[in-house]
Amino acid sequence: MLARAALRIVLAAFASAASAQQRIAPPLRIVIAGDSTASEYDAARWPRRGWGQELPGWFDASVEVRNRAQSGRSSRSFIEQGWLYDVARDLRRGDLLLIQFGHNDEKRDDPARYNEPQQAFPLWLRQYLELARRTGATPVLLTPVARRHFVSGRATDLHGPYAEAVRALSRRERVALVDLGMTSLRWLDGLGEDASRAFYLHVPEQNLRDNTHFHQRGAAAVACLVVQGLRAQGLVDAARLRRDTDCGIPDDTDTVRPGASRIARDGEYRRAQPSPHGGGGSTIAYPLFADVADLDIVLRRRVLPPGAGIGLHRHTHDEIYYVLSGRGRYVLDGVTHDVGPGDALLTRTGSSHALFQTGEADLVILINYRVIREKN
Ligand code: MN
Repeated sequence: MLARAALRIVLAAFASAASAQQRIAPPLRIVIAGDSTASEYDAARWPRRGWGQELPGWFDASVEVRNRAQSGRSSRSFIEQGWLYDVARDLRRGDLLLIQFGHNDEKRDDPARYNEPQQAFPLWLRQYLELARRTGATPVLLTPVARRHFVSGRATDLHGPYAEAVRALSRRERVALVDLGMTSLRWLDGLGEDASRAFYLHVPEQNLRDNTHFHQRGAAAVACLVVQGLRAQGLVDAARLRRDTDCGIPDDTDTVRPGASRIARDGEYRRAQPSPHGGGGSTIAYPLFADVADLDIVLRRRVLPPGAGIGLHRHTHDEIYYVLSGRGRYVLDGVTHDVGPGDALLTRTGSSHALFQTGEADLVILINYRVIREKN
């Protein structure tokens, strides 16, 4: 009985190993139809980048991104100027067509691009959906990415009826939706008015103050939101990804405790302290944030002047020492090692260690462990 159960386990493990080897992702092409927020810019315009330009960085070699976004186009002028033919040539069965317009459709004073949002805008967008369907590709509608606009300190939407039209079209046509307008607005709100400036094209030396187009770091952040949206829709498999898609959108802003997170100078914590565990001499300790209640991390800088040392002690918790500067003699489970800057010393539960300063200079280390609280 036991032998048969064991055999089943062995066979199951073998079968899953074999299928893992066969699981090579088929090629996937992602084609982008969109505007200047997504399009390509050459190096001369650095740091200006479109989010479509950053998208390939998320994928392994099984995914090819063809960014056909064109600066200045609305859903209508993109088609009228023939750019949709390029998209049609790129698309194959099973590919994804990402469709993001709205910024230029909103330009009421420009008849070549303007579309009113209720009828004309969705009608033009439907042509992209039809092209994808004819080809056997999967269309994905994106609401227009947010402009950087704050009112009373809160990121505020400027695409209202255009984003709503895209959402309504996706429901009506049963097409996948990445609500980039919503996620990018929450991303902006999380960054805040001041910090978000660096993600858009605010470049004093180029005299740019642009709240629509992206600095490279903004383009990358928005690409992350796009990939996160595609994943959430089940449109790209995690196996194709080579970067994380945690793009910093707060789930629940109520959990933020203002003032709880902060910056300190280690000088605030400086105190002379006898050498721990019966070591020689005396040390200077900087127990960073030791005053913070309920903090479960210990990070301490310790300076060991000539003659100082941390005495031998046995561990009931895991701990890391990291040598910032100076030299030392480290005794780990009875074996001696010379250590210096950049050496990281892991001590696990059950091991014992000691550390003595050597040479002329102070030995300076960081000490890190997790506080284990007694349960009452
Ligand atoms: Mn220790």
